[in-house]
Amino acid sequence: MTAPTSSDLASLLRTRSYDDAALAAASVDAPDHAVLPEATVVKVGGQSLMDRGADAVLPVVEELLAARGQHQLLIGTGGGTRARHAYSLAAELGLPTGVLSDVGSAVAGQNATMLGYLLARHGIPVVAPNAFASLPLQVAEVGAAIFAGMPPYGMWQRVPGEGVIPPYRTDAGCFLVAETYGCKQMIYIKDEDGLFTANPKNDSSATFIPEITVDELLARDLPDLVLERGMLELLRDARRVRSVQVINGLVPGRITAALAGEHVGTIISA
Ligand code: ADP
Ligand code: MG
Repeated sequence: MTAPTSSDLASLLRTRSYDDAALAAASVDAPDHAVLPEATVVKVGGQSLMDRGADAVLPVVEELLAARGQHQLLIGTGGGTRARHAYSLAAELGLPTGVLSDVGSAVAGQNATMLGYLLARHGIPVVAPNAFASLPLQVAEVGAAIFAGMPPYGMWQRVPGEGVIPPYRTDAGCFLVAETYGCKQMIYIKDEDGLFTANPKNDSSATFIPEITVDELLARDLPDLVLERGMLELLRDARRVRSVQVINGLVPGRITAALAGEHVGTIISA
């Protein structure tokens, strides 16, 4: 059997349903245009960093600023404790996942606003979801831009298999930006060295996992994870960003090293 060509795809798109298996196979070989291949997406954690206040946030901001000369940075934000509080209220009120998704977005937006004001004098703007078309210009002009990490699904957020918490939150939103723009790297800046066998905050016997694949990670069925589970499936199916690194932003120098491509946290690959 010969490989499908783009003309096969064109004719299959004219004649078959989108669920046709041959159509999906023909689309696999579509060429791969990376939109912002020099850029790195960094996620500044919500609970893990922003909620720790100035002591944690200001050194991270300084390190990102220092890196901006050498790296194009798309800086996404997490939600954190305030989002969790809003989720608990909304859930208690019996509100659906789509509403929780909206209120969680607002908190990630607040964190983006705060980072934006901190970085304003360096010309680094906050880019709203409906203004993403201007993001390449900002990155070309000033080398960095900030965005709220929550994917803008709003009330169209997918309902989870269990419960009401939106399954695609800021880890997923930042990853999807990196994947869609074909970025060089996706780095999660959090408050632990990376992935452990359990949450190191409440299990002192947890051990560090420097490197793992998504399939291995899902097979280990760990009690808790440093990244959203939904994001792992996105990584497994990604075409462009085939690995991510989770690093400890509380340790000076880790961000700089990770941006330079060094392995200083946990690398999770597709
Ligand atoms: P963010 O601030 O980016 O939203 P989270 O607070 O949601 O980050 O996730 C990071 C936290 O995940 C860490 O602070 C850690 O306490 C917790 N965690 C849970 N399970 C693990 C694990 N297996 N390995 C490492 N950290 C874990
Ligand atoms: Mg989180």
